[in-house]
Formats: sequence, structure tokens, C-alpha cells
Amino acid sequence: MTNLDSKSTTPATLGVKATAMAETSSAIGRRSILMLGLGLFAGCATARSKGARLPSPIWPDASLLASRSVVVAVEPLPATPPLAGVIPRSSWTKGNPQMDNIDPMLPIKWITIHHDGMSPFSATDFASCASRIELIRNGHRGKGWADIGYHFVIDRSGRVWEGRDLRYQGAHVKDQNEGNLGILCVGNFDQQSPSMAQLAALDRHLRICRAKYKVKASAVLSHQEWASARTACPGRNLQAKMNGIRRAIA
Ligand SMILES: [Zn+2]
Repeated sequence: MTNLDSKSTTPATLGVKATAMAETSSAIGRRSILMLGLGLFAGCATARSKGARLPSPIWPDASLLASRSVVVAVEPLPATPPLAGVIPRSSWTKGNPQMDNIDPMLPIKWITIHHDGMSPFSATDFASCASRIELIRNGHRGKGWADIGYHFVIDRSGRVWEGRDLRYQGAHVKDQNEGNLGILCVGNFDQQSPSMAQLAALDRHLRICRAKYKVKASAVLSHQEWASARTACPGRNLQAKMNGIRRAIA
């Protein structure tokens, strides 16, 4: 796989510029760059390679959501006990999901791992991490989505945060969100490496989720491992660890 980001190595311009370079060939990229400029971009929809044809939207497009002919608010499913060690979403946001465009979660069969693909992020303090997650949620809401797309978020100190309530389907892999639990590791792993604490927490949380929802190790995928996904997510430095992660939790 050719990853354009491997060519974007000018040290002083890492971050927004490198991300922008990776996306210059697509309409999605132009929109993302615009949103970066507005401080609103958040997501893992980086183009897989410069040579790829224009990618279709990585996630449901706002216009598709808006075109639903019948809008019916979803009845919340019964609340489930929080998973061990997870920081509740009330700790980082006062925002509620938009209930008229969210679907109930189906039985969980898959787990998908992402990075946020924004500028590199090294902070570990609670407030900075909470702000980063709220930034991502606002970016997703700005696209017309019901809520942050991921169910869990893991920061560099190894905290696991609740994202979208697991009673609801996520929005993190194009056309493959049914029964698909989304985990975001904050950072840009084309430009930095996941921390040891982050990887340890990911391992721990995958074990908890696998045990609770009976998900096979082989059904733990990275975003780019979905055949339909044209994305560099979760970045080469986390992608390189995927086989090891699956072996460790098997
Ligand atoms: Zn992703």
C-alpha cells in the first residue's frame, strides 16, 4: 500500500499541512481542509493514496441523512451497565445525541479501530483529552451526524472514554456500521506512534468487549482493513500493530 503521508516528511510542517497534503486529490480532502481551517474537522477519513480514485464519502454524508423521507426518533434501548473502567460521556460533554437520525445498535459482531487523523496530539491531562473528544464530536455533529461516531475513545494516558452510547449504532465505517463497535485512539499515527499506555488500554478494552459481546479476534479490524474503506486510518504506526493486537487478545 502506498501511503502518501510517507512522503510528507518535512519536519516542521507535520500536522495540519501533512494531513492536507494527503488529501489534496479529493473532494473529501478539500472539504476536510476547509473544516480544518474552521477548527471543525475531526475524523479518520484520510485518503489511502494519491493514486486512488476519488473516494466516496467515508461515512454517511449529511445530505443522505437529511434525505430520509421518514424521520422517527429511536426509542432508547434499555441502559446497559457501563463497561469496567470507562469514563462516562457526561464527564466530557453536555451534548446529547440527535435522536431523530440515530439507529439502535444491532448485536455486536465486529470491532473497528481508528485514529483521529488530526494533528499529532501528545497531551495526557484530563481536560485536554476531554476537549479533544468534544472537538471530534462537534466535527461529527457539524457533518449532520447524530453524535460522535465512535463508541469508545482511548487517550494517550490509557483512559477509556465513553463516546456514542453503545445502545446506538455508530458512524465510523462506510456502509459497515451495523453491529460494528467503534474504538478511536486519539492521535495521528501516520505522524506519531500510539503510546504504550494507549496500546495497553486498547488491549485491555478489546478483551473486555470481546468477552462481553462474544466477538472473534478475527473480527477485530482496523478501519482500512474493511474492503470498502478507502482510508489510511488508523495510520501506519498503529496499523503495523494490528496483527500483534489480534494475536494478543485471541
Ligand atoms: Zn477510521
